Amino acid sequence: MSAPGASVPVTVGRPGRWRVVTVAGARWETPRARTLRLDLGEEFAFLAGQHLLLRLTAPDGYTAQRSYSIASAPAGSAFVELTVERLPGGEVSEFLCDEVVVGDTLEVRGPIGRWFVWDAEEPFVGVAGGSGTVPLMAMLRQARAAGRPELARLLVSARRPEDLYYADELPGPESTVVWTREAPPGSARAPGRLRAADLAPLFDGGQERTVFVCGSPSFCDAVTDVLAELGVPASRVRVERFGPSR
Ligand SMILES: Cc1cc2nc3c(=O)[nH]c(=O)nc-3n(C[C@H](O)[C@H](O)[C@H](O)COP(=O)(O)OP(=O)(O)OC[C@H]3O[C@@H](n4cnc5c(N)ncnc54)[C@H](O)[C@@H]3O)c2cc1C
Repeated sequence: MSAPGASVPVTVGRPGRWRVVTVAGARWETPRARTLRLDLGEEFAFLAGQHLLLRLTAPDGYTAQRSYSIASAPAGSAFVELTVERLPGGEVSEFLCDEVVVGDTLEVRGPIGRWFVWDAEEPFVGVAGGSGTVPLMAMLRQARAAGRPELARLLVSARRPEDLYYADELPGPESTVVWTREAPPGSARAPGRLRAADLAPLFDGGQERTVFVCGSPSFCDAVTDVLAELGVPASRVRVERFGPSR
């Protein structure tokens, strides 16, 4: 697929083979989302925005495979971080959140994705809801690590403070959090759904930035409607929906 608006060629790592990786660390980002740090055993090249396919195999040979975005910035190391939202009854996410312990091995394949990737050079806008924050965090972390935070403008939607992913890194000078159900004390904005007035400041100075939108299908649809209302050309908008993968 071509990428309208992308002026810089993007070099993307190839998905390659399934590989066995070791869980090197784990922490809860929120009461319902857990970050797993994976050791891939060798330097792993990827682009911010890409994801891994993760495969679980039961003793009887039954397999389940799901996609998980990479949360960490490309760093030329053997480690990547995934953040998994625990969906009640979810076959894979419950296992990754409740059962997996440090030292376990998992199977992954990747990196995957050529469209929803940041080239690490062009200014971008990111709009994320819930676990959709994960790939945009990789982009923000990469911009910060490169000393180019001005390339990123991020807006993250969270229901309430306890639901905010990466709370020690968000919000920041280049990132805003919009609360939809409950805002922290002292917040100027009353809790409520994302509106044009929330997104408009991201485009101060023009609408030429590529816009990455990520979250549930309903969140993505609502955001793209608002972007159209603001006159952001559809050709500049890239959407990744985290819907059911079966
Ligand atoms: C490109 C891509 C990247 C993704 N990155 C992430 C990520 O970084 N972090 C993350 O937590 N998830 C991510 N997802 C979603 C992930 O792949 C799984 O769909 C999710 O973990 C649910 O799998 P499960 O086996 O637990 O649930 P399932 O057993 O497949 O489903 C359980 C129930 O939850 C519903 N459901 C399934 N998926 C979702 C969903 N995403 N949101 C709401 N309801 C759902 C199903 O309809 C079903 O009712 C990504 C999806 C895609 C396509």
